Amino acid sequence: MILSPMPEHDVLVVGAGLAGMRAAIEAQREGADVALMSKVYPVRSHSNAAQGGINAALSEGDSWESHAYDTVKGSDYLGDQDAIEILAREAPAAIVELENFGVAFNRDEHGRLGSRFFGGAEHARTYFVGDFTGQAILHVMFEQLLKHGLTTYDEWFVTQLVKDDQGAVRGVVALDMKSGRLELFRAKAVVFATGGMGRVYEPSTNALICTGDGMALAYRAGANLLDMEMVQFHPTTLKGNGALLSEAARGEGAYLLNKDGERFMKKTAPNKMELASRDVVSRAEQVEINEGRGVDGCVLLDMRHLGAELILERLPQIRELALEFLGVDIIHEPVPVRPGMHYQMGGIKADVEGRTTLDGLFAAGECACVSVHGGNRLGANSLLETVVFGRRAGRAAAQYAKSVGAPRVSEAWLRDEERFIASLFDRPPGERAAALRLEMGQTMTRDVGVFRTGEGLESARRTIAELKERWERVSVGDKGRVFNTNLVSVLELRNMLDLAEAVVASAIFRTESRGAHARLDYPKRDDANWLVHTVCRHTAAGPELSTMPVVITRWEPEERHY
Ligand SMILES: Cc1cc2nc3c(=O)[nH]c(=O)nc-3n(C[C@H](O)[C@H](O)[C@H](O)COP(=O)(O)OP(=O)(O)OC[C@H]3O[C@@H](n4cnc5c(N)ncnc54)[C@H](O)[C@@H]3O)c2cc1C
Repeated sequence: MILSPMPEHDVLVVGAGLAGMRAAIEAQREGADVALMSKVYPVRSHSNAAQGGINAALSEGDSWESHAYDTVKGSDYLGDQDAIEILAREAPAAIVELENFGVAFNRDEHGRLGSRFFGGAEHARTYFVGDFTGQAILHVMFEQLLKHGLTTYDEWFVTQLVKDDQGAVRGVVALDMKSGRLELFRAKAVVFATGGMGRVYEPSTNALICTGDGMALAYRAGANLLDMEMVQFHPTTLKGNGALLSEAARGEGAYLLNKDGERFMKKTAPNKMELASRDVVSRAEQVEINEGRGVDGCVLLDMRHLGAELILERLPQIRELALEFLGVDIIHEPVPVRPGMHYQMGGIKADVEGRTTLDGLFAAGECACVSVHGGNRLGANSLLETVVFGRRAGRAAAQYAKSVGAPRVSEAWLRDEERFIASLFDRPPGERAAALRLEMGQTMTRDVGVFRTGEGLESARRTIAELKERWERVSVGDKGRVFNTNLVSVLELRNMLDLAEAVVASAIFRTESRGAHARLDYPKRDDANWLVHTVCRHTAAGPELSTMPVVITRWEPEERHY
């Protein structure tokens, strides 16, 4: 796109996954001049990879209260209950809206929307399109964008948030990846919908683009991050490359077996078995593996009894993944799986309208922490979060934009960023970004994984600190300007290292076990001291940790059983 000098909008949404698209549509409905910016072409956003489905209490006998309670319990009581109530109450209308937009959800034999069971849920309330739900929704949402003629800046990489003299966020500096040019974008309000940070770990179910840029940019600009220690390990990721095999498999009835062919979940979750919440199932698997009852570092996911017809109709992508990468046909054989990094429950602290702790900056989707997932997200609640809170953030940003004058930001932001990028090109040949990225990812998986110890976390802290130092010597070998992915990967690595540091610091800080944060040296949940969010702030001396209260409306903490 040819730009007018100094592009300016009322609302600039960064991130074109489901949260960003939904926010942009809503901001435009509110009358704002909106633009949507993304480092990849919009439909390549990670939302596209979502497989299993999206939750809502829509069926007879189900209720929003039941959905909310399951979510609160799943969060190990760390989720804010006011936000969870909104998520569950607004879910049915959100699904109906998607279906009206044109999402062809699966239907049951009566022609009604069909649902499947997902982990930690008392009712079958996950609505789906085969096992490619995210793609189905994202493409339909993209049609809505086109229909509304929204301005998009595709393949622009945001490198910096910019502020006015009062310290309010009033735009971004972004790199046009096609030309290598930097540009200053002014906006009355900025919405970050920049997705997750899965690639801080190696392996991860997340796309290679999930590098947490927005979280890191907001953090360095002074926004609070919340509950960064709460990293979800999904129970069924493929042996080897760590690709996701959706919970839809267990929702349709798949078993988990150890090397003796035993359904070991009966020991930890006799009622829900394989459909206990993800933190519970991942820990149970890891115990089997650690105690020698695994199969070559994995356990087995068995779908043979579901039959070819169901597998081909409802789980075709899972079959293809296992076949392509391991040569295993799930119709005839069980497939080796293990817990793998999947989701960041924490993120940029945002209220139920998407407002962050920085004036002018809003956040929604996986980059935000509202917090509806607390210590552990239930499967299929994330797609829901993107549309429910994407809509709210878009609306709030548009209303906010009406209340402020034209954005005034100095060109100095652009010049500073240009100097910084030039300094990266000027570095002499030195460290390679890919090598550092791998070391970071493997360190995080080893020391900040399903089970954690003070010793392991301290070791991770030292390694990440060393890697941050080494990043200062990473060189950009490719001196070209056009689609310089080498440069982008160096910038992404910087973001990931800051987030890795925040995750480790938060995990050291929380001396209890809750949700996905399981410390062998503090094995119990400690409500007396830790029924609080972890707040992480960026300072020159490193992450600064504090706490803030959890909002409890009606569900007092209880011990969790599944
Ligand atoms: C394999 C997989 C399967 C999943 N399955 C499910 C499921 O079945 N149900 C469910 O509820 N959840 C699922 N999840 C989780 C869910 O898909 C995600 O949490 C959700 O889609 C995130 O949406 P988002 O809009 O926040 O971000 P994303 O869809 O990740 O989009 C992020 C956007 O930000 C842009 N961006 C990032 N950094 C920059 C930058 N520096 N400059 C410019 N743009 C930038 C990207 O280009 C992209 O457009 C799954 C996740 C994975 C990885």
